[in-house]
Amino acid sequence: MEARPDRPLPRTPAGDVVSGEPTEPGRWRLEVTTDCVGSGMCVMTARRYFHLVDGYSRPRHDEVEPDDNVVAAAELCPMSAVRVFDADTSVEVAPLVTGDP
Ligand code: SF4
Repeated sequence: MEARPDRPLPRTPAGDVVSGEPTEPGRWRLEVTTDCVGSGMCVMTARRYFHLVDGYSRPRHDEVEPDDNVVAAAELCPMSAVRVFDADTSVEVAPLVTGDP
């Protein structure tokens, strides 16, 4: 498995594009796809957010406050089965796959 390159993660909202005022961080929607093989990496990384059910990971909550541990779990999953989306926009927050430079 290839290591993913370091890169900045988009966890802090840029603010309101019209007013320039900072905005409250939105909530994130968590999913675990059927690609999960039950390695438990996400549970060890972010136990507060994931647990194993019948040998496979499941989010403890559908939506959560933004947390770096959730991103870490998504980035560390060997199957890229942990998916994190902005709950309002459905834009994928993690894992982010970068192409070749
Ligand atoms: S790290 Fe990925 S493969 Fe392992 S239990 Fe979590 S979702 Fe499943």
